[in-house]
Amino acid sequence: GRPIVAIVGRPNVGKSTIFNRIIGDRLAIVEDKPGITRDRIYGIGEWVDQEFSIIDTGGIEIEGEDEIMRSVRMQAELAIEEADVIIFMVDAKAGVTAADEEVAQMLFRSKKPVVLAVNKVDNIQRQDEIYEFYSLGFGDPVGISGSHGIGLGDLLEAAAKHF
Ligand code: GDP
Ligand code: MG
Repeated sequence: GRPIVAIVGRPNVGKSTIFNRIIGDRLAIVEDKPGITRDRIYGIGEWVDQEFSIIDTGGIEIEGEDEIMRSVRMQAELAIEEADVIIFMVDAKAGVTAADEEVAQMLFRSKKPVVLAVNKVDNIQRQDEIYEFYSLGFGDPVGISGSHGIGLGDLLEAAAKHF
């Protein structure tokens, strides 16, 4: 079957924005089980004639700080199980947060291939915004902007290396 890519990261980093750009209108399945907060959205993407399945993790309702981390953790665990490649998304405007570091540890332990995407690099001249994310330990971060459509090709190229 198609390789599976999962987008993981804490809420508000821009996962759904980039997911929608990647799939266009090729939404595959919407799982929305009442009582289960793990609703995930599947789509089909394509990179150089290669189709892949992509998962937007974390369409979750959140209350407090603890709830956020609990759900981010759960989503990351599910993605680790299911995915061939994980896109770990962080936010250039927010910088490295404690939640990012916790997700990083989980992903690191999983030994799955991880591509680190630094979103909200809205200005191509501001690539220096990605440097602090080297500290997360996943090598070269890919600077992207979901809302401006910057860096999507670089991101998919990096992910497709692991197909
Ligand atoms: P998710 O919670 O990780 O799925 O994040 P969303 O895709 O829902 O985006 C969260 C917020 O960040 C929204 O207000 C988006 O409009 C905004 N956002 C997403 N991508 C970008 C980006 O590249 N640059 C900026 N400045 N804002 C963005
Ligand atoms: Mg979302």
